[in-house]
Amino acid sequence: MQENGKTSKISGFYKLSVEKRREIVKDFADLSDTDIESFSRPIDIQLADTMIENVLGTFELPLGIAVNFRINDKDVLVPMVVEESSVVAAASNAARIARIHGGFHASVTDPLMIGQIQLLDIPDITTAAEDIIKQKEKLLQIANEQDKILVNLGGGAKDIEVRILNSPLGKMIVMHLLVDVRDAMGANAVNTMVEALAPLVQEITKGRVRLKILSNLADRRIATATAVFDKETMGGENIVDSFLESYTLASIDPYRAATHNKGIMNGIDAVVTATGNDSRAVEAGAHAYAARQGQYTSLTRYWKDEKGNLVGEIELPLAIGIVGGAGSIHPKAVLCKKIMNITSANDLSNIVASVGLAQNFAAVFALSTVGIQKGHMSLHAKNIAMMAGAKDDEIEKVADQLVKEGKVKLDRAKEILSTLR
Ligand code: NAD
Repeated sequence: MQENGKTSKISGFYKLSVEKRREIVKDFADLSDTDIESFSRPIDIQLADTMIENVLGTFELPLGIAVNFRINDKDVLVPMVVEESSVVAAASNAARIARIHGGFHASVTDPLMIGQIQLLDIPDITTAAEDIIKQKEKLLQIANEQDKILVNLGGGAKDIEVRILNSPLGKMIVMHLLVDVRDAMGANAVNTMVEALAPLVQEITKGRVRLKILSNLADRRIATATAVFDKETMGGENIVDSFLESYTLASIDPYRAATHNKGIMNGIDAVVTATGNDSRAVEAGAHAYAARQGQYTSLTRYWKDEKGNLVGEIELPLAIGIVGGAGSIHPKAVLCKKIMNITSANDLSNIVASVGLAQNFAAVFALSTVGIQKGHMSLHAKNIAMMAGAKDDEIEKVADQLVKEGKVKLDRAKEILSTLR
């Protein structure tokens, strides 16, 4: 991520017109007029037709910008694609509080993905496992012949591990190929390699290969982000304590942890989608990682520092890239990466992990104070007003009345609308 000397701290961004917001983002990210215009255009139908099968059309979702993010001492505007109200506002608010103490500090491990080869009917499991390791160099060489680009970039197949698993079908071997996928998500790269290795691995083990496919539990590709949330801005140390009580439930109870982590994924999926990455892969990896110790738990941790401020940390696998997949061909995904000024998959992972932490902080903070509905309701009320048939300036009027009455319901919206008319 390059520092461009411009600030992402923009107060009142939400009050501006779409045009004004576009001007600010254009200036921040040095976009062209053509770039900006393309935000108004759906993707080309011919492009859509090459992306998936049986295409009928395209489906639009809102693209918003989260402001105030400062990550590893650089300011960034974060594009988010999401259908749920409050997500962008909550992330921006959390980032505003985090930047008081310097913003987010994020890091990633090497981008190692795992490819699996499943082997059955092996006559001598222990010898077979040893023989795979003896042939490691040859196997890595064959794997690397599949992707010269990756190897030339310093990536490629790096290591092999062998696991022996008990199963209802008897003992089986699962061979793991560890591949440094550099700036790619890596699924195609890894799948090509494990498919190429399968015949030789079968020969070595004298068994039978079944599956040869990437694992979405990308636990060798971990992103971590931390931030300090200012106690005074949160409303005092008693609010920090309330926050920690709320968080504790997520740390011990899978029922709460699922909702807690869903809140994290609100932010993560939105950035992952905006960059054309595979949100299902990220979701699968995140939830499997959350259960890695045998019980599903929170992906974040919180504690108090010596001054009573709240410290938050997130740790999760992030299989995302800036080259390959849909992100390289979807024009808005390309633009979203340009807005963030990122030059590597690591840059993107640092941002995504920070947004996940921000989103989680915002949700638990709201739950520990005013509750989640207050923030949700004003935008939700507008949706309800539109569902009731309100048009133009009627939408605002009906929504305001619904919020004022604290009863955001469709039947009441219809009554208000008919009185208004
Ligand atoms: P890809 O094959 O489109 O691009 C990756 C390739 O780009 C690399 O193999 C390399 O040859 C080349 N490359 C050029 N510059 C590079 C750089 N700087 N760093 C790394 N590689 C570079 O994409 P991919 O990332 O291998 O696969 C991603 C796609 O696979 C996603 O669309 C995903 O949805 C899909 N997929 C996912 C799964 C799964 O998650 N289980 C399974 C199959 C496919």
